[in-house]
Amino acid sequence: VKETPSVKVAQLSGDLGRYQGVWVFIEQREGRIMPVSLELLGAGRKLADKLGVELSGVLLGNQVRALVDTIYEYGADKIYLVDHPVLNYYRAETYMQVFVKLVNEYLPEIILMGATTTGRDLAGAVATELATGLTADCTALDIDTEKRLLLATRPAFGGNIMATIVAKNHRPQMATVRPKVMKMEQPVPGRRGVLITPEIELSETNLLTRVLEIVKEQGEQVNLQEAEIIVAGGRGLGDRDNFHRICGGLAEAIGARVGASRAAVEAGWIEQKYQVGQTGVTVAPKIYFALGISGAIQHLVGIRGSDIIIAINTDPNAPIFKECTYGIVGDVNKIVPLLIEPLQKL
Ligand code: FAD
Repeated sequence: VKETPSVKVAQLSGDLGRYQGVWVFIEQREGRIMPVSLELLGAGRKLADKLGVELSGVLLGNQVRALVDTIYEYGADKIYLVDHPVLNYYRAETYMQVFVKLVNEYLPEIILMGATTTGRDLAGAVATELATGLTADCTALDIDTEKRLLLATRPAFGGNIMATIVAKNHRPQMATVRPKVMKMEQPVPGRRGVLITPEIELSETNLLTRVLEIVKEQGEQVNLQEAEIIVAGGRGLGDRDNFHRICGGLAEAIGARVGASRAAVEAGWIEQKYQVGQTGVTVAPKIYFALGISGAIQHLVGIRGSDIIIAINTDPNAPIFKECTYGIVGDVNKIVPLLIEPLQKL
């Protein structure tokens, strides 16, 4: 009995060596590649170089062949393309089946996907089907080159610690990464690679789900992830009217987008789609204003990609002051009106 575990590990290790290469799932919607996939090609390139293996993009969809050049230019050596009408819209059922077939055929050692609605859904389904490890919502990736282990870091225990997770005895090693966490590398125009188009039989018959209609979300689209300047407000703004007067006022004056802490969202001052942080969006603007936000770790993990963080808070010991580029100790109600006029003139 004592020997069983080591025998099992030894057998697994032999199998594990057959898995090679880094894969990035290229998420596309209506023929447009999601920026997170391009960010992941940059991150995947670094991992592949450290391991001395190829980086591949996996592109599934209908009439998406035109996208392959972009994928090479962002760093892929190889592309696995399955182009079929059944893959026109994302469905976990079909995408998972195709992805798992590709994995079983070509045996990658690492698979990266964006932690988007689609990526989270697909990664979970694929990892379950392959009975392998998946680290979701990572904020950093690295490699133990000697053991060929993916070191996937993510917030754990409510964001109170950063945990680095490894899938020691499983291949492929899978991770999803939030948009805007990895820096998008510059494309290399004209860079090309190898295109592989596996023949996979697909048919609408016998599928459990069918897409009847796509209904686009009504109302204002909030794209905080792409914003260059964000003015975010927290509980320190006091009430709903003041939140919109102060945050909205500054944002309007300088052409910024409004964001919020979870406390402001939970108080009902603004909708959840404006929430920045662990359970909101991760942002990477040039300038991030944190007004009346204390700087809880769950908020900070969403703003660390910002170039400049400017914090205004009455409490000189607020944790946000340890993270920010410029800090102003004071009352937002007094300071923000003083900032608006000179900033408008810039
Ligand atoms: P507070 O922490 O109450 O801070 C208010 C700040 O305003 C204080 O520092 C105070 O000094 C200052 N202040 C008061 N009056 C003024 C004034 N007149 N002028 C200037 N400053 C003033 N939070 C997020 O933001 N995003 C997330 O995605 C998120 N996810 C979470 C996930 C989990 C699992 C958990 C457990 C928590 C999460 N939180 C998240 C909540 C987080 O822990 C904090 O509770 C929250 O960020 C606090 O919001 P706040 O800074 O606005 O409020």
